[in-house]
Amino acid sequence: NTYSKDTIRMQRMKLPAYQVKDTLLRLISENQVIVIIGETGSGKTTQLPQFLYEAGYHKQGLIGITQPRRVAAMSVAKRVSEEMGVKLSEEVGFTIRFEDHCTEKTKIKFMTDGILLRETLLNDDLDQYSCIIMDEAHERSLNTDILLGLFKSILARRRDLKLIITSATMNAYKFSRFYGNAEQFTIPGRTYPVNIMYSKDSPSDYVANAVKQVLRIHLGKETGDILVFMTGQEDIETTCEEIEKNLTDLMKADDTIEPLEVLPIYSTLPADLQAKVFQKSKIRKCIVATNIAETSLTVDGVKFVIDTGLMKLKVYNPKVGLDSLQITPISQAQSNQRSGRAGRTGPGTCYRLYTLTSFNQEMFPSPIPEIQRTNLSNTILLLKSLKVSDLSKFPFLDKPAIEAINTAQYDLWSIGALDNFGNLTKLGSMMSKLPIDPALSKLLILSTLGKFNCSQEIAIIVSMLSIPPIFVRPTNDANLMKKSESVREKFQVAESDHLTLLNVYNQFSKNKRWASSWCQQNFLHFKSLRKAREIQVQLVQILKTMKLPFVSCGVHTDKKWIDHEVTSNIIVVWNG
Ligand code: ADP
Ligand code: MG
Repeated sequence: NTYSKDTIRMQRMKLPAYQVKDTLLRLISENQVIVIIGETGSGKTTQLPQFLYEAGYHKQGLIGITQPRRVAAMSVAKRVSEEMGVKLSEEVGFTIRFEDHCTEKTKIKFMTDGILLRETLLNDDLDQYSCIIMDEAHERSLNTDILLGLFKSILARRRDLKLIITSATMNAYKFSRFYGNAEQFTIPGRTYPVNIMYSKDSPSDYVANAVKQVLRIHLGKETGDILVFMTGQEDIETTCEEIEKNLTDLMKADDTIEPLEVLPIYSTLPADLQAKVFQKSKIRKCIVATNIAETSLTVDGVKFVIDTGLMKLKVYNPKVGLDSLQITPISQAQSNQRSGRAGRTGPGTCYRLYTLTSFNQEMFPSPIPEIQRTNLSNTILLLKSLKVSDLSKFPFLDKPAIEAINTAQYDLWSIGALDNFGNLTKLGSMMSKLPIDPALSKLLILSTLGKFNCSQEIAIIVSMLSIPPIFVRPTNDANLMKKSESVREKFQVAESDHLTLLNVYNQFSKNKRWASSWCQQNFLHFKSLRKAREIQVQLVQILKTMKLPFVSCGVHTDKKWIDHEVTSNIIVVWNG
């Protein structure tokens, strides 16, 4: 173990951030706000919190680091605890929605930006913190943008609080300008040239194309790991399976072909499997990732990047009033960020599975901030409960469209969360405490009322509505398709899809001990159901802290039990 401690220390000392540690600490002590710019892999995320700790900032309060992504919060917390030689959730912890791995001992807290935003509701001066690192600010997630706005007044009230904003090179000046030309510091570092190859035509099947390219590289002479950018869990899994299958076939025919370690990484992958990506391997690695590997996770040794040019993006659809994940082209800035991953430790090559014309004509120069393409209901609810009554006066880094603000305010008014003057109602203020969609939080709160008395059932339904679809729908095998349909019918409750969800969950809970194989037999996604259970537990806890009753209506899902007349009164009751 001392050996591994030594290697970790050696690794740390080689990082570009380590070389400028003293300068960074001096600048932080001299300035309340500082923008730190550095190449991916220079040590911003893993080193800055440790520098602050070594300088003793934790004695005045927590050192908080926000991440736009759950996976990143989890895996960097783990890495930093290893580097410091402490147990995770003791000195170094992390908190993500529905999961808290921090204790009284915690001094360095990694969290998603959504968690910090929620914390401002409980303590609007964030008194528990001495410094906050807003990591990956260039991602411009909705929560990061709102926090940056809130910090303007927090910093004025709390002169002792340090704000450190880290960013990849793109648009870093914007943050500095936003805080009255705050100090900027660029971590010096070197990158190697990357040879960029474009596709001759736009492929119809990006998975097949990526698989082909992986095999071509693997069968070639050059050594070095491969990083493939896909859009999400599904195409990542297909890609990994296809690579393995093709490779097995090839190895059967020719036993001189080297093995290849194929590793997926996406946000819902279990932590132990995620960790594999960072482990040293004797054979070539091929990592198949979402855009998490663009800037937030750094894997060393990558020499080849295969870029599909696509990502999943949350897009608000005003017609149905819902956010949905859609596969969309990345921006030019992201495209360059992705190819840069091949040039971190030496010269590399990036294969772009799209044409130069697509790059030039179909991609935006930089990504559109989330605040300008998402439903703002949740955010407005939160801002209103933070007493930001006039949204037109809120300091936005980039203003959302006025129509988007108006639509969201109208929606909130129509479900009774805002009154005619745009102020929070009692219902609205209760809703803001629940980290779920406004419509769902209203449903849950109402279910606790005496005349409904069914918060136990509704908490389950709401949890089931907060996860990806639970039914497995096989598409390429007629027999399996038929079988899955007949199993699905078994769960069906004629009255409503929601009762069907409740039924599935209840059956799932009954079969706890064999949950995973039971799910497989019944064409259900085990991971999603497990997630639903976690969410349900959290919601019940929040109901408890709000002193709302957690009660069951005690009716079984196979009986008729909805009183339609009562439900139609809801808005009147709560607006009054
Ligand atoms: P930045 O935030 O500037 O992009 P990081 O602090 O994330 O950089 O990474 C610094 C170095 O630490 C990288 O070279 C990376 O390989 C290494 N590293 C980060 N996380 C892990 C991990 N979980 N396991 C092994 N090495 C890691
Ligand atoms: Mg980082």
